[in-house]
Amino acid sequence: MKADVTTKTVKEIRIDIEKCTGCRACEMACSAFHAKPRYSSINPARSRIRVVTDEINDEYVPVRAGNFTRSECDGRHHYRLNGKQYSECSFCRASCPSRDFFIEPDSGLPLKCDMCEDAPPLAEPLCVTVCQPGCLTYEERQLETAIDELGERQAMERGLASLLNQHGIAAVIDNLKRLSRG
Ligand code: SF4
Ligand code: SF4
Ligand code: SF4
Repeated sequence: MKADVTTKTVKEIRIDIEKCTGCRACEMACSAFHAKPRYSSINPARSRIRVVTDEINDEYVPVRAGNFTRSECDGRHHYRLNGKQYSECSFCRASCPSRDFFIEPDSGLPLKCDMCEDAPPLAEPLCVTVCQPGCLTYEERQLETAIDELGERQAMERGLASLLNQHGIAAVIDNLKRLSRG
């Protein structure tokens, strides 16, 4: 059976670290855009983009907030760049209990970049618009993905059958209840 094909728009922000001056205009714009009411305040702690800075070596790395993770990594890389040591956490996009980045300071809720979803939509994400040195650039590309509904259903049925064989129906129901409680 031939799978249907759907087209998805993938939004990308490209980062040219060489051009970043550490001006932090991106942080200010992002926090203002997400303030309630919109543009009513500026607080970089509420920004979904943070600039990792090393002023002595004149190095700046913007990082956009990704998904929330409940568990911290228990093994981490360390990077040495131009003589300075950075932890993997420095460049990680996760909102994670390990650090204050990407945690809303008042509520403690995780922050995640939404590519500035708005109605009507912005022509481009705000951090890109305000980045005068051109460190951030915006691109969209179309991605074709196959929707194989039958294949997905069969895979799910096989997975469920295997779980039932291994653990029995009572344990599977119990686990599903626990997962749905989050
Ligand atoms: S606005 Fe651009 S140049 Fe300024 S800190 Fe952000 S990414 Fe870097
Ligand atoms: S900030 Fe990222 S790298 Fe560091 S512990 Fe959390 S998830 Fe792992
Ligand atoms: S794309 Fe929008 S939400 Fe994401 S970091 Fe940039 S300004 Fe913030």
